[in-house]
Amino acid sequence: MTTQNPVFIPGPTNMPEALRRACDLPTMDHRSPAFADILHPALAGVKQVLKSKDAEIFVFPATGTAGWEAAITNTLSPGDKVLAARNGMFSHKWIDMCQRHGLDVQVVDVTWGEGLPVAQFADILAADTAHQIKAVLATHNETATGVVSDIAGVRRALDAASHPALFFVDGVSSIGSMPFDFDAWGVDIAVTGSQKGFMLPAGLAIIGVSPKAMAAIEGATCARTFLDIRDMKKGYEANAYPYTPSVGLLNGLKMAADMLLDEGLDNVFARHARIADGVRAAVHAWGMELCAVSPDLYSNTVSAIRTPEGFDAGRICSHAAARYDVAFGAGLGDVAGKVFRIGHLGRLTDVQALSGIATAEMVMADLGLDITLGSGVAAAQETYRQSAATLALAAE
Ligand SMILES: *Cc1c(COP(=O)(O)O)cnc(C)c1O
Repeated sequence: MTTQNPVFIPGPTNMPEALRRACDLPTMDHRSPAFADILHPALAGVKQVLKSKDAEIFVFPATGTAGWEAAITNTLSPGDKVLAARNGMFSHKWIDMCQRHGLDVQVVDVTWGEGLPVAQFADILAADTAHQIKAVLATHNETATGVVSDIAGVRRALDAASHPALFFVDGVSSIGSMPFDFDAWGVDIAVTGSQKGFMLPAGLAIIGVSPKAMAAIEGATCARTFLDIRDMKKGYEANAYPYTPSVGLLNGLKMAADMLLDEGLDNVFARHARIADGVRAAVHAWGMELCAVSPDLYSNTVSAIRTPEGFDAGRICSHAAARYDVAFGAGLGDVAGKVFRIGHLGRLTDVQALSGIATAEMVMADLGLDITLGSGVAAAQETYRQSAATLALAAE
């Protein structure tokens, strides 16, 4: 990228300038009191963003994928049974990781574009009276398909069966952008990374761990070393890491959590909802469909848009990059070539969203799709001016 165009990929997100600067620190002794003043507020901030009273927060110099691995290897043993649904590339990759660690995954395959099969999970959990299932894995927001799932519903299914399984939630593309309620949903481990809702560069795996999951650590025998929570906990008690931390990124995380909390989480979520509404209005004005099969599943952080049968959606991404220096997300896995994605998470403004929609129109027109230039932009403009007027009224 040679220009200052925003990116429209669903992570890494556009970085607010203040966060970019917060990551740019001179070298610091990572065992000094000054480091403790970065570490502990960063952990406390994440805990508030997760809405948890009792979770312990651990941050590894890694990415979200390592957060998945930390969750399963610290709490489970080879041969343990886990329940997971596959409804997109990210849930698929987490399942694959579990299998490579020797876990026995009961996979429920779901059409990509649908949400987690809560009713089916409820039946499976109720039938598992011997409590062989040790953990339930849930991807809150399937970034590949733009589908948000009912995490509270999965918790209800566990409770209805009085099932003791641990509950692990991938919130990589939802935490800090869409409502996420660690305590109310009875989450045992929540996973995210630095480069999505926290608007930072990639490089941190961030997890929240419930007391119940902490208690499972001693008995778990999956191999882990770098990601061992016990070492990290001991490190934090001495205001340090078991190895060298990414001090600059942690300073960014501290500021990112402050930014989100200062704006107010509800305001952050509402902002994402209204930006997403504008993008969806544009998609509908284009006469196109979202990959998510029903409105209750529409993600407020990413929209995966189905292109006409026979058209390779990947061309939209490559043409946008080559001709306009703008990045959209490509389709992944089962929906490769069938969808392109507009990421709209992080600190995107109405103006930026409109520029992405306008660019998508130029690209699709260039490629011969039946798009009226300005149609999606006009629909999004209407959405944004109305919601901006409502916000202005409320502020008076
Ligand atoms: C991005 C993403 C991941 C992977 O995170 P990395 O930081 O790329 O390792 C996992 N799950 C979801 C839902 C994601 O969006």
